[in-house]
Amino acid sequence: MTAQLLDGRGLAQRIEATLRDEVQTFAEMFQRRPRLVVVLVGDLAASASYVKSKAAAAARVGIDAEVIPVPVTADTSELVALVQAIARDEHGPADGILVQLPLPPHVDTVAVLDAVPPDRDVDGFHPENAGLLSQGRPRFIPCTAAGVQRMLIDAGIETAGRHAVIVGRSDIVGKPLALLLAARSPAGTNGGDATVTICHSRSSDLPAITRQADILVAAVGRPRLITADMVKPGATVIDVGINRVAGKLVGDVDFEAVRTVAGWISPVPGGVGPLTVAVLLCNTVLAAELRLGRR
Ligand code: NAD
Repeated sequence: MTAQLLDGRGLAQRIEATLRDEVQTFAEMFQRRPRLVVVLVGDLAASASYVKSKAAAAARVGIDAEVIPVPVTADTSELVALVQAIARDEHGPADGILVQLPLPPHVDTVAVLDAVPPDRDVDGFHPENAGLLSQGRPRFIPCTAAGVQRMLIDAGIETAGRHAVIVGRSDIVGKPLALLLAARSPAGTNGGDATVTICHSRSSDLPAITRQADILVAAVGRPRLITADMVKPGATVIDVGINRVAGKLVGDVDFEAVRTVAGWISPVPGGVGPLTVAVLLCNTVLAAELRLGRR
């Protein structure tokens, strides 16, 4: 068997095409474009590259994006003050505010993220947005988790009653994705109602659990963690991991071996990554529309 490819890049382009029209309508109605302000601390190459691709994607759909670079020496109180100033629109209208992670180790990341007002929190990391998601009435959903759900829905992969195993329990990916896939789906829609198992670094006998998965999501950050013998034949395998190995981007899944077992598989690059960016743009337009009372 050779798995069918889940083409995240193609889906992201379709989402962008829809957004372009929505942004155009917004601009005509309010005489300005939705605007995203990104705080980039330090000079980590990976962070700079993620921010660059977010800004480029924003430009493609007509969202104004401003990146505020901050020296790596900035401390927690300086960053909190900066986020508060952005929220007061001192850096221009800030419909969406995003703090690129990771922050340097001397910074209290939670304090900085909590300073982002929940109604501008396009990453969906604020406790208010996490709470709304856990209650099944999401506002801003963390972009990668929402991207994985969209990938499943778009490919017509049924989630109701299926066993989804998520490897990784971070607040950013694993946890919100578990909530999304386990949530009750409105009648006639797909993307929830799964039976979800969350695995993590202390899970024992990981292969025995992953082999039960109809839908297996790897969100760990360890190259080749998921090998072919850990996958049930015909399963859907979604690779969230991004690792740099010998200058190349690879996921958490041993792609070449697993594609001979799985029914569906997402590649790295070109899988979940572009969808994460596309959902960020959707969240920014949503934030702008909420702010101006269009929703
Ligand atoms: P994290 O470090 O916060 O969490 C990693 C999780 O993996 C933890 O819950 C940990 O318990 C678990 N884990 C560690 N070792 C394990 C093991 N041996 N077996 C089972 N579980 C184990 O990471 P994160 O922020 O959730 O990101 C995970 C990966 O996804 C990283 O590679 C990151 O770069 C990538 N990522 C990709 C996107 C995207 O757009 N594609 C977005 C966010 C994160």
